[in-house]
Amino acid sequence: MVILMEMDASEQQVAEVGRVLSGFGLEARLVGGGRKIMCDAGVAQAPVLDALGRLPGVHRVQRVGRPYVLAGKECAEGNTVVRVGRAAIGSGAVTVIAGPCAVESRDQLLDTARAVAASGAKVLRGGTYKPRTSPYSFQGLEQRGLELLAEAAAATGLATVTEVIDEQSLEAALAHVDMLQIGSRNMQNFHLLRAVGRAGKPVLLKRGMSATIEEWLMAAEYILSAGNEQVVLCERGIRTFETYTRNTLDLSAVSLVKTLSHLPVIVDPSHATGRPELIAPMSRAAVAAGADGIIVEVHVNPKEALCDGKQSLEPAAFAGLMAEVGTVSRALGRAI
Ligand code: PEP
Ligand code: MN
Repeated sequence: MVILMEMDASEQQVAEVGRVLSGFGLEARLVGGGRKIMCDAGVAQAPVLDALGRLPGVHRVQRVGRPYVLAGKECAEGNTVVRVGRAAIGSGAVTVIAGPCAVESRDQLLDTARAVAASGAKVLRGGTYKPRTSPYSFQGLEQRGLELLAEAAAATGLATVTEVIDEQSLEAALAHVDMLQIGSRNMQNFHLLRAVGRAGKPVLLKRGMSATIEEWLMAAEYILSAGNEQVVLCERGIRTFETYTRNTLDLSAVSLVKTLSHLPVIVDPSHATGRPELIAPMSRAAVAAGADGIIVEVHVNPKEALCDGKQSLEPAAFAGLMAEVGTVSRALGRAI
């Protein structure tokens, strides 16, 4: 249920709505700015809706016919803008996040960070707790990797994002990075979603590889309902029968989610395709489809990479990608 208040509703009127809601055993949450939207994640009965609709200062009470409420468009005024360093994701500008799949060494990270910063990326990515399919694969530098991310941020002015895989890695990451990533494999780790919801830092929520759009938005709802409104959704490809690409990029999900939710949506063409030659065309298409940005894997020496080298761009290719994405962005009147 969403309760839309009048523009000039007073604090007392908002408080009274909260009081009436709690009388019905419902929890009130105040979100949004100017119009003071109150939401309750519960499903209200008709008498509750009527009673609330008659209260002074209430403009409209709306039953939301979807399981997610806080992530839905009705629950915010305009689109959410998530600020990460110099990036304003969801503002209309195209944000580019780039960096290695995994932080491997000081030189590897700093050289890559300098290269992507020089080409115009605003946020540096780098995994330090890696969720690998094989227990024998490189698992990440953990704490040391976080320290290197902080060093790279200081050296370049880039903001940073890294994946957290449990509460321990979340705790460690909080002191070192600007944004927390929930990976595809953890999209339905509800305990972890609640934990990042309490963390007070922006969250990059990747779509589960077999998740429906509704399941993805419900995962966002977990974070929002725990009190964190700074959520960026990331389409990273879904599992299909196709084997020539690593996953199948669901670009329609980007445009669709923009109609359903106020949250920003970005695209990860690296994991979606697994093929460097497809990253530029899919990035151009993502921007044209309305994505708020892209996240791209870049490595100074992909052949030697400990993780996802095959899909990583070298710095020169990344510079070319930035030029192409810039052309499409400007054609659409969007800053980059
Ligand atoms: C990653 O970004 O390094 C990653 C593991 O991505 P995903 O969770 O989308 O597979
Ligand atoms: Mn990767």
